Amino acid sequence: MKQNNIILNGIAASSGIAIGKVFILEEDDFLVVKKEIKSSQIKQELNRLKDAMAKTKTELEENQKELNKVLGENYAKIADAHLLILNDPLIKSEVEKIINTGINAEYALHTVVENLSKTFDLMDNDYFRERKHDLLDVAKKVMRNLFGKQRKTLMDLEENSVVIAKTLTPADTVTMKEAMIKGFVTEIGGKTSHTAFVAQSLEIPAVVGLKGIIHQVKQGMPIIVDGNLGLVILDPSKETIENYKREYEIQISNKKELEKFKDLPAVSLDGREVVLGANIENPEEVRSALRHGANAIGLYRSEFMYMSRKTMPTEEEHYQNYSSVAKKMMPYEVIIRTVDLGGDKIARLGLMDIGREANPFMGLRAIRFCLKYPEIFKIQLKGILRAAVHGKIKIMYPMISRISEIKEANKILEQAKEELRREGKKFKEDIEVGVMIEVPSAAIITDLIAKEVDFLSIGTNDLIQYTMAVDRVNSDVAHLYSPMHPAILRLLKNIIDSAHLAGTDVGMCGEMAGDPAYTIVLLGLGLDEFSMSAAQIPKVKKIIRSVSKSDAKDLVEQLLRCSSMQEIDITMKKFKYKQNLF
Ligand code: PEP
Ligand code: MG
Repeated sequence: MKQNNIILNGIAASSGIAIGKVFILEEDDFLVVKKEIKSSQIKQELNRLKDAMAKTKTELEENQKELNKVLGENYAKIADAHLLILNDPLIKSEVEKIINTGINAEYALHTVVENLSKTFDLMDNDYFRERKHDLLDVAKKVMRNLFGKQRKTLMDLEENSVVIAKTLTPADTVTMKEAMIKGFVTEIGGKTSHTAFVAQSLEIPAVVGLKGIIHQVKQGMPIIVDGNLGLVILDPSKETIENYKREYEIQISNKKELEKFKDLPAVSLDGREVVLGANIENPEEVRSALRHGANAIGLYRSEFMYMSRKTMPTEEEHYQNYSSVAKKMMPYEVIIRTVDLGGDKIARLGLMDIGREANPFMGLRAIRFCLKYPEIFKIQLKGILRAAVHGKIKIMYPMISRISEIKEANKILEQAKEELRREGKKFKEDIEVGVMIEVPSAAIITDLIAKEVDFLSIGTNDLIQYTMAVDRVNSDVAHLYSPMHPAILRLLKNIIDSAHLAGTDVGMCGEMAGDPAYTIVLLGLGLDEFSMSAAQIPKVKKIIRSVSKSDAKDLVEQLLRCSSMQEIDITMKKFKYKQNLF
């Protein structure tokens, strides 16, 4: 049989090679038809509804257990909200009423849900308006059971599956590891989208931003995912498979080779030692961070605790969560970034302003959200302050764009301390406070900011997005997202030099820090700490150990004189060639 060997170019989101079979994670699509039923069939129709609801209940309960096991209680609360809706006697009795008039169960359910949705839409309160999504989710599940149609879930995977989906929800991704997925490909997303971070933390090769792929593949079709180059090959020829198998073998042996670096320090040939940390999103990831030799958590994206749930995390939940990370990471430092909601990280917490903005990346995001809702912010700060007693925790504010924001945030931090004192709770009085440099205005005034804080961390994912006006999750402009643009290089130099002049350490926790292509440049610029997805640590360490800081500095001086990215690229290649770094 002739193979088509169709090569598609997407965005490399998580490195590695996967050779497997297509598994399409479909979206639900039902055609509900109104049918009149005889009065003799009404009882049977009511039973169908009852059975479908019972089946849905079992599914939701299983889902809840699974979420609890894999991601902890916070995520399991998604299923709680769904169960509450399913068990609402009013909805059930409304559907039954319509069936009793001689209408089929599917149409009866559809009618009730439509009417309820319209009522939700009319509500003034955004919190209730948002509940509509939960109602629709549950209705979809019941509908699926009425139709007897099962949406394949990631638990239905067969061995060697490569998941193809429009996008992946947190609930989808939690089952990934268990299901032994080989790779995944999504239509939506960019290199620094949060779907990409999940893939990296699970070490699953992934390509994102491949619009229309769902319509190009068939269930079970052979597929290769090249997460290094961002390629997907459909129906690969024998020769392509053989080539990729060889590549895969090399990848495995490289991984083994890299394991040797795990316990070695990240020190350059001329003795410059840097800290290599891991970026995490939940306490479970600490294990992987340590396994890959992380000497810090350079970024804990705390907003994941707020996502996929309907209520704010409590002070106690914050405290438990952060102290478990701090204890496991001892004697290393843990930087907890205060909540960065907004942008592509939307949580449905019943807050008016999140998720309804024309430009969410430039809207009420991160510290702006916290300063608008100081009471919510304080709850998190109190949890962090208390957890800091159990380890080496530092606080970091995201998306700072002016000095006054640091001062305002620190004021709320002092109020949090005061409240803890009054409540007689133990906490760390002199906790270190730093900020992320990820907005161009902050990058330009780093000299001023550095005087206000204990440390800085460069968030290149946003810094590049905002400096170059390139939406980080829009695949149509992904080619314009360039860490090696002369403007970015100059900005990085300004940040690092200004911080050092003020005697402040500077790290980087954006994706650039974990990309081996940029390691030498960052070393040469004088970066003190690199924080990245755990699996990248050995690769970056190997490079740091193979060059001298002074050579890297010379390279940076040459790069800063280049006027185009092409020139920068050639200069870097020459350097690597001379240093035998290929
Ligand atoms: C960044 O912007 O570089 C960063 C690390 O933060 P996030 O990706 O969570 O926005
Ligand atoms: Mg950011």
